Amino acid sequence: MAASEREGYPFHLIPAPLIGWYRANRRALPWRENPTPYRVWVSEIMLQQTRVEAARDYYLRFLRELPDVRALAECPEEKLLKLWEGLGYYSRARNLQRAAKIVCERYGGVFPAEERALRELPGIGEYTAGAILSIAFGKRAPAVDGNVLRVASRLTEDPSPVSDPRYKAHLSRELAAVYPSEGRDCSDFTQALMELGALVCKPSSPDCAACPVRALCRAAEHGTQASFPVLPEKKEKRREDIFVFLIRTPRGIAVRKREAGVLKGMWEFPSLTLSDAGGKAAEDILKGWGMSAFKVERSRKYTHIFTHIRWDMTCFLVEADSAPFCVFSEAELESAVSLPTAFRQCLSLLEE
Ligand code: SF4
Repeated sequence: MAASEREGYPFHLIPAPLIGWYRANRRALPWRENPTPYRVWVSEIMLQQTRVEAARDYYLRFLRELPDVRALAECPEEKLLKLWEGLGYYSRARNLQRAAKIVCERYGGVFPAEERALRELPGIGEYTAGAILSIAFGKRAPAVDGNVLRVASRLTEDPSPVSDPRYKAHLSRELAAVYPSEGRDCSDFTQALMELGALVCKPSSPDCAACPVRALCRAAEHGTQASFPVLPEKKEKRREDIFVFLIRTPRGIAVRKREAGVLKGMWEFPSLTLSDAGGKAAEDILKGWGMSAFKVERSRKYTHIFTHIRWDMTCFLVEADSAPFCVFSEAELESAVSLPTAFRQCLSLLEE
């Protein structure tokens, strides 16, 4: 049994001060204006992978191009991936579109206001469903993300690891039981918990003096803020060495679609892991791809960090008469090809 259950933390006391604080202090963010289910959904998926400041521009551009669920459902994939470029996790963009198609086909373009129906949509889990239901529909549905877990674990001094699904489920139940009546209060309570975590109860330096629930916080009372939340031990990232070939021909730069592994289905500069290269030199790899008239000009090291893996990349600039791949001009690469950041950084090799 969690500590907060044993000692009966008074969750019912937190909505009122949090909602009042939120209304006076909330940041003006584009997805908070007119929070339709579509707008809340897109913003939440973006915010799962990037900070608020960075997400703002992506969000505005996305909404400008794809203002509603029907526009998203009908968007050509290449354009969608281009709008998503730089955010990473391209499967999320694809899931957005798959879900948009289902909303159009099954629900006539209107989001269902029901948890089970929302969670049947690709890419929508418990958290996103809760965010859409409470923020857009004003329903009594918590949305427990990392910010909310941190705030709650400090308020209650709960020693459960926040990565434990049982703790999350327990917290969701506790919060669901104290949600205000349906409507704007529900929407604001969800956002208040998130906003408190983002602005005040920050990971390493909580500003307890400015906190609207300071009087209800056990960690602040005991000076134990730094001990909560209890985090799982960090796992070492797997490292992968990879050769990347920036092949420049008179017609442009060579790219191809990745067939397997990380970023499968995305454009890349032709690449090979060192283990797949089997000790071959760069020239031999190029010859193995059927290239003949070429010259390896120079190389540079790059690194890219994914969630579970780190790529140590050696990128070769190769001048060639032609290449057995798709070829795009630099301008086309910039404007029309969705090239993951891991590869796009290699373009700096052209600048020397
Ligand atoms: S009092 Fe401090 S530790 Fe407690 S919830 Fe507020 S900011 Fe977080």
